[in-house]
Amino acid sequence: MGWIVSDPYSFEWWGGLKSADEIAISAFLVQMTKWETVAKVIENLRRKGLNYIDKIAELPLPVLEDQIRSVNFYKTKARRLKNFSEIVSKNGGLKKFLTVENRDKILEIEGIGEETADSLLLFANNQLVFPQSEYLRRVLSRVLNKKMSKKEAKDYVEDNLKKDLFLYKLFHAGIVSIGKAFCYLNKPKCDKCILKPLCRNKYNETL
Ligand code: SF4
Repeated sequence: MGWIVSDPYSFEWWGGLKSADEIAISAFLVQMTKWETVAKVIENLRRKGLNYIDKIAELPLPVLEDQIRSVNFYKTKARRLKNFSEIVSKNGGLKKFLTVENRDKILEIEGIGEETADSLLLFANNQLVFPQSEYLRRVLSRVLNKKMSKKEAKDYVEDNLKKDLFLYKLFHAGIVSIGKAFCYLNKPKCDKCILKPLCRNKYNETL
């Protein structure tokens, strides 16, 4: 997925999608699937007026399966997405449900791990939560030359980055992009990395 730098409250950061509903739907579809395929499915749902969590909650499961058939593991994803949509609808919609206070409840939903929960909070409902991720853990561990868990890396950012929505989104998008483009698990491309001047651990691949 390509990040699109936008105004702080825009949904378009998330691959150019248009709404919180589309971000939530795509979060379920994208696992183990190319973003281009997900974008086409979202476009198709949009054309049919099905790009809403409330609508998905009401769709019979076989119909939803049919709509998302082109993504990998579509049956599992359809079941999880429908379950999520029903829970969200019962709890008053995405805006009410996707809050920091509900983080533990969100994590109880099948198919939602820590990174997805935090990403939904930040990008689908503008909550000041920094998403933990393997990319964050790896890049920060190497830049600071300090072994960190995903949670420690997330806490480090939340403790040190100014509490500002635009900065949170930009920093997350930047870290994920650097992780994907340069900071590989093995043989990171340090010579091309924009963090090279800051990175204290250029040649250690083990962190
Ligand atoms: S300089 Fe190398 S180790 Fe440091 S963040 Fe960039 S790719 Fe990773």
